[in-house]
Amino acid sequence: MLRMMEPVATQVPEEHREAEKTGPERGTQTFSAMSKYGHESVLFCSDKKTGLRAIIAIHSTVLGPALGGLRMWSYQSEAAALEDALRLSRGMTYKAAVAGLDLGGGKAVIIGDPEQDKTPGLFRAFGRYVEMLGGRYITAEDVGTQVGDMAYIHQETSHVTGISEAEGGSGDPSPITALGVLSGIKTCLDVVYGSPDLNDKRVAIQGVGKVGAALAELLHGEGAQLFVCDIDPERTQAMVDAFGATAVSDDATCFFELDVDVLAPCALGGVLNDQTIPKLRAPIIAGAANNQLQNEARHSQALAKRGILYAPDYVINAGGLINVYSEIEKTPHSLALKRARAIGETVRRVIEIAQAEGICTYEAAQRLADERLAAARA
Ligand code: NAD
Repeated sequence: MLRMMEPVATQVPEEHREAEKTGPERGTQTFSAMSKYGHESVLFCSDKKTGLRAIIAIHSTVLGPALGGLRMWSYQSEAAALEDALRLSRGMTYKAAVAGLDLGGGKAVIIGDPEQDKTPGLFRAFGRYVEMLGGRYITAEDVGTQVGDMAYIHQETSHVTGISEAEGGSGDPSPITALGVLSGIKTCLDVVYGSPDLNDKRVAIQGVGKVGAALAELLHGEGAQLFVCDIDPERTQAMVDAFGATAVSDDATCFFELDVDVLAPCALGGVLNDQTIPKLRAPIIAGAANNQLQNEARHSQALAKRGILYAPDYVINAGGLINVYSEIEKTPHSLALKRARAIGETVRRVIEIAQAEGICTYEAAQRLADERLAAARA
């Protein structure tokens, strides 16, 4: 039984509810949020003619230009959109750092319904803002945007990746993201069960969009039993028809209570929280969604305390970034595939650090990222 639910990512944490205020106070809250996360700059984009309302957050350019996808979503408030842009862009800094890429962290959001509000003019207006940044920020697709949208942005700026192969780009990065997630899941299985074999393992995927559906196909090919949910019933049904998956309710409580070997969150962020963690029965959480932990410090500890192996999101989902990096660097596609398949080894390194130091996997990944950033600053 499927029903609509509020996306968790649109919840505004207590400390940023103040940011919904208007007037001078609001600016103060934006600066305090930037300072809390360590952002370099945030650009608010407004274009009356096309109705564009977008935020481009540049977290860090220490390792290179800030690259990160463009998300289009019906945010409940401007504060929720800002919070999403800030947290997602910070995650991109860590993702590039751990993946060994010479890229900084950025992310953009457009406030709007991706099913209703898309126009070529909207994306072209966004592209002009990206161009204004002169290459400090490079955009790509994310939730709610697709390769076709990148083509409109490309009409205004060259600082866009993930454009179609026909236009000389590397196309949709999602299949490579899924390949990296598969590699990470296998490592987690190996650590927990002593074998990476997926045959007859039970894997549940929340969100079968671009990455989730590609992951379902790969897992099916390896003999896994699939459980899927999506707020779009047609997407869920497509997985049932194609891979014999079992459809489960998209109610977060039901999904996170599933008695499976692996839970793979592949929708929005904030899904590992005070409500879901106590109910978890799966020994492994390994999925593509960004910002899965609602509160990184507290919820990563809560998972570790429960003995649940968490593959840090920005480590396991780096395949798409690796792919667009190869587009920028003009390296062969085969190298991107090789690097994405090696994500399992990075996940293993993170787990080994965590075990050796007696810390949780999120903290171990953070150490790897911080070490690389500190070396680059020095
Ligand atoms: P997408 O928009 O194609 O798919 C997201 C899917 O999640 C959609 O089908 C949507 O209906 C569903 N969904 C949204 N809220 C849900 C909920 N509460 N319960 C169940 N389903 C829900 O996006 P995508 O590109 O597949 O990205 C998925 C996640 O992976 C995002 O968090 C994204 O930031 C992350 N990610 C994507 C890539 C990539 O290459 N596309 C790379 C790295 C990380």
